[in-house]
Amino acid sequence: MKLIPIPAFDDNYIWMLHDGRRALVVDPGDANPVLAALQQGGLALEAILVTHHHGDHTGGVDTLRQNTGALVYGPAGERMPEPLQRLGDGDVIRPLGLRFEVLLVPGHTAGHIAYVGHIPDEDPVLFCGDTMFSAGCGRLFEGTPAQMLTSLTRLAALPDATRMCCAHEYTLDGLCFARAVEPDNAAVQAYTDRAHALRDQELPTLPSSIGLEKTVNPFLRTHLPSVAHAVRQRSPNAHDPVSVFAALRTWKDQF
Ligand code: ZN
Ligand code: FE
Repeated sequence: MKLIPIPAFDDNYIWMLHDGRRALVVDPGDANPVLAALQQGGLALEAILVTHHHGDHTGGVDTLRQNTGALVYGPAGERMPEPLQRLGDGDVIRPLGLRFEVLLVPGHTAGHIAYVGHIPDEDPVLFCGDTMFSAGCGRLFEGTPAQMLTSLTRLAALPDATRMCCAHEYTLDGLCFARAVEPDNAAVQAYTDRAHALRDQELPTLPSSIGLEKTVNPFLRTHLPSVAHAVRQRSPNAHDPVSVFAALRTWKDQF
């Protein structure tokens, strides 16, 4: 299977998975780049997977459904372009004959879901929308810090080799913040060098992997003394894990 990030807007990626004939896409905020990719590859769009209700993830759904007849899947608890199959935690879908598990990961939005795809003889693939970014996480528009921490902890528990396909190219921004939080983290420095080299060539830094994110992403590392200590320099009363996470997210919002 080919896994391709289709750039959209300023910094979105619409992920496409295809076998040379049949394709699915995730979070098509814009139909045009998807239609172009389908035409260029001679591909039939069979499924559209949506993670949450924001317009930069749903704006192309109606046009793509009308043009291709693709089935649309999305979160049970959010306002979505109808018709679609609504999904909740633990649900399984089989687009392209592949098995995808659904995880409810509230935080960025209240009903945000993620998809974990299992492809024979390949590493698993995670489509996590705006929940986790490389070296970062989504803003808390509708959920609480406790919800987001739980959601990220579930994603971090996936196998290290899982390919992390988030919906925005925010990696360098995330790494800049990660350096401020953990200036002595050598993995952050090494990844920053690699990410700069990719972006200099206008290449995506993604997919990342769960294993990499556990070494560089401060939002997956709030249980570690290095991150908790840095947070407490600014928020002395942040002691329990949720308070540390909340203070870290606030720090990033102001960074
Ligand atoms: Zn969003
Ligand atoms: Fe987004």
